[in-house]
Amino acid sequence: MRRRKPKTTRSIRKPVRTGRAAKNGALRAEVIAACRGLTRLGLTYGTSGNVSVRLDAQRFFISPSGTAYDALTPADVPLMDLGGRWFGRRRPSSEWRFHRDIYASRNHVGAIVHTHSPRATSLACTGRGIPAFHYMVAVAGGADIRCAPYHTFGTQGLSDAALTALKDRHACLLANHGVIALGEDARTALALAGEVENLAAQYCAALVLGEVRLLDEAEMRRVAEKFRTYGKPDAPDPDLLFAGPDLSHTAARGPR
Ligand code: 13P
Ligand code: ZN
Repeated sequence: MRRRKPKTTRSIRKPVRTGRAAKNGALRAEVIAACRGLTRLGLTYGTSGNVSVRLDAQRFFISPSGTAYDALTPADVPLMDLGGRWFGRRRPSSEWRFHRDIYASRNHVGAIVHTHSPRATSLACTGRGIPAFHYMVAVAGGADIRCAPYHTFGTQGLSDAALTALKDRHACLLANHGVIALGEDARTALALAGEVENLAAQYCAALVLGEVRLLDEAEMRRVAEKFRTYGKPDAPDPDLLFAGPDLSHTAARGPR
């Protein structure tokens, strides 16, 4: 008879992660998921673009520089503080300066996504931002999405220009470079980066057709006001009446 291997008494379970470690792990995973989202959504090519997620008032996790997104593991995601110090086994994104400066100056920003998405980048290569050609431009917080002037990637000059273009906005273009989108978390920042790309594609198409009609400031203010309750159950509409739950499907499936 074959002898069974004795059972080991040593636990093979992974160590239980305590609160702080679990939170850090979840934030690192959020960075990786957003990086892969960039590729999945066609918002970037190769290793261009980067993502960061705030840990607390002083620190943030950021994608490592020049690393293929599909090969990333949580241990590859460095931690940085606002003093420019980094911790981990991989060097942080070359764009750490604008990530740091945005977190330092905008308390409510929880995540930052930078892309080289094709249409928005094409537009930025003409030095143009996105004006109020469509009401959805207001998703970025105002009546236009500005384009910051060109500066070499990774420089303090680029960070300073980006911060100016981001004043009162959640997104901007970077001339001859790409896009920055901000959010309360990586999912919302990624979604906004996707929306900026969609708007840029529509604006480029409209420019090809001819004279583009712009919405005026009063209309963009009205849209911004409506966005505050958009998608929420209590969004005001004097002509819309809630008339109770829909029971039609339960009646259809009930006994005859
Ligand atoms: P990193 O790989 O260093 O993040 O650089 C990509 C990029 O988009 C620079 O602007
Ligand atoms: Zn870039």
